Amino acid sequence: MVRFEQLNKWFGRDFHVLRDIDLDIARGERLVVCGPSGSGKSTLIRCINALEPFQEGRLTVNGVALAVEGREDLRAVQQVRRSVGMVFQQFNLFPHLTVLDNLTLAPRNVGKVPRAEAEAQALAQLERVHIADQAHKFPLQLSGGQQQRVAIARALCLAPQILLFDEPTSALDPEMVHEVLDVMVELAGQGITMVCVTHEMEFARSVADRVVFMDQGQIIEQAAPEAFFSNPRSERARQFLDKLL
Ligand code: ADP
Ligand code: MG
Repeated sequence: MVRFEQLNKWFGRDFHVLRDIDLDIARGERLVVCGPSGSGKSTLIRCINALEPFQEGRLTVNGVALAVEGREDLRAVQQVRRSVGMVFQQFNLFPHLTVLDNLTLAPRNVGKVPRAEAEAQALAQLERVHIADQAHKFPLQLSGGQQQRVAIARALCLAPQILLFDEPTSALDPEMVHEVLDVMVELAGQGITMVCVTHEMEFARSVADRVVFMDQGQIIEQAAPEAFFSNPRSERARQFLDKLL
C-alpha cells in the first residue's frame, strides 16, 4: 500500500529531517510510529499524503508514484490525496459550520456529491464513530473527544484507503483519550490501512501489527508491539520507553 525507498528529505539546505527511509506498509496493516519529539514522525506521515515534498528516493502510495520535489505530477498528487485520509492532533474542524456541514464540505465541493447523498454518507460515518446525535451541533459545543471523533468521521467520508493519525489523543484531557482510542480500535478491526503516530502503548499493543521507532530522522527499529515494548533492541528505544513509563 505504501513503499518508501531510500527517501531523504531536508528542510531548507541544511536540516536533514528524514534519512534513508525504507518502509513498506501492507494493505490492511496497522502501523504505529513512535519516537521522541522532533524525530520526524509527523514529517514522515505527511509525506504519505503528499503534504510534504521530498528530495531523494522513491515513495509509492496505493500504486501511484510520488516524484521528488520539482518533478511532482499534480495528477499523481491528487490521486494520492484522494486515497489518504488524515486526522490531526488539533482537530481542525471549521467552528462556524455544524458537524454535518464539516463532514459534507469536501464531498460536496471537491467530490461534487449532491447534498442529500453527502449528508446520508456523513450520518453513516457519524454513526460509525457513535456520534450521530451531535450532527446538528457546532464543534465548540462538543467535548474534545467528541470533536476528534467528528474529525475521524470527516476523514472517513472521503472513503480513504489509508488513514493517517498524527497524535490524535495528545491534545485531549486524559478522561477523553479512551473515547477516541475506542473508536480507533474499532476501525482497526475493519480492515482499513492505518498509520498512527501515537505514544499510547495500550493501543499499540492491542491493535498494531508493527511498531516503527524513529529517532533523529531515521527508522531505528521495527518490531511486533510485544517484542518492541518488552525488549527493544536499540539503546535509544530503551531510553525512550523508560521515559514513557
Ligand atoms: P515529530 O512529529 O517526531 O515531533 P516533526 O516531523 O514534526 O517531528 O519534525 C521533525 C523536525 O523537523 C523537528 O526538528 C521540527 O522542528 C522540524 N520541522 C518540522 N516542520 C518543519 C518546517 N516546516 N520547516 C522547518 N523545520 C521543520
Ligand atoms: Mg509530530
